[in-house]
Amino acid sequence: MNKAITVIKGDGIGPEITAQAVRALEKIAAKFGHEFTFGYALMGGCALDEYGVPLPEETIDMCRESDAVLLGAVGGPKWDYGPGHLRPEAGLLGIRGALGLFANIRPVKLFPALKKSCPLKDAAQKIDMIIVRELTSGAYFGDRRTYTDEEGYKTAYDTMKYNDYEIRRIARVAFDLARKRGKGLISVDKANVLDSSRLWREIVKDVRAMDYLDVELSDMLVDNAAMQLIRNPAQFDVIVTENLFGDILSDEASMLTGSLGMLPSASLGSSGLGLYEPIHGSAPDIAGTDTANPTAAILSAAMMLRFSLEMEREADEIETAVTRVLNRGYRTADIICKSELSSCEVVGCEKMGRLIADEIK
Ligand code: NAD
Repeated sequence: MNKAITVIKGDGIGPEITAQAVRALEKIAAKFGHEFTFGYALMGGCALDEYGVPLPEETIDMCRESDAVLLGAVGGPKWDYGPGHLRPEAGLLGIRGALGLFANIRPVKLFPALKKSCPLKDAAQKIDMIIVRELTSGAYFGDRRTYTDEEGYKTAYDTMKYNDYEIRRIARVAFDLARKRGKGLISVDKANVLDSSRLWREIVKDVRAMDYLDVELSDMLVDNAAMQLIRNPAQFDVIVTENLFGDILSDEASMLTGSLGMLPSASLGSSGLGLYEPIHGSAPDIAGTDTANPTAAILSAAMMLRFSLEMEREADEIETAVTRVLNRGYRTADIICKSELSSCEVVGCEKMGRLIADEIK
């Protein structure tokens, strides 16, 4: 198959980790007889430097014309000033909006070889869940204002607003995933307090009643979910939640795997075009030192193969390659434990990427 992939390297460690993801994709193309054409576009701080805006029109056009988008990460102290719309992160929100990417999918999986990196004492329990986060509505997009009220107090508000269409479409994404995995869906909200959560709960139940009676559904309040993720993470299979809750819970859950450097994500819309990126940021503190973990970016490429390019076997191949390299005892600095120093080898970003690509034979 011929596929066009737009690569947005971004800032900080973005170029280093995306290079390793592209390397893995090139090995997949060679092994399975595909042709991947990589086009490179700017977004974030590097785009601000080059074009004066974080998301140039050229980048949006190139993404729209491709089959999938691979993103490193954007941002860094160099651009941490100026108005919100001229910061690197505005590029992220902009591209999600421009491509209509309303569903963020984050698998959280603890590789058996990394059990020692899990901060929980009893890491023997299986951690393998997917968090489905609504991405284009809620408090991050609702009406907001900062002003001085009539009594002279400086005041600010943000509005968490959802309509039934937005809830229905994200619920469907989550039910479809839960159906494939077969272990049920947990919908997380704050329905004891928030109107938007009461609507969320009502619509999720309605979607199930209409089309997904075969999928077991339960509700959980977000404060309880935050606690249960630490107390008993093995109980979760697929979680669906709104934007703000999803942002917080997915970062909490990511720490169960030991490092941000292990976790990929997909942002999907209704067209099939998706954006794939590691969940971590641009890590400016280690940029250019060849110490970043490229695994999250490489696993994001695997998600791209599975969700946008319909290449399930190819995706499995990359995930198996990662598992093998970890089982052979190779670790980047972020996932090495003191107790493993004598039995494991610490490698840099480039070597980790090469080892994983070499396992794709
Ligand atoms: P970060 O995720 O970049 O880094 C947090 C910590 O994790 C740092 O110590 C970093 O060195 C480490 N880390 C991150 N990824 C790693 C990897 N692959 N391998 C090894 N270690 C890794 O978060 P931050 O420091 O809060 O943010 C840095 C910049 O990234 C900011 O400008 C922020 O706005 C931006 N950011 C971008 C995205 C994105 O592009 N999607 C997401 C989050 C943060």
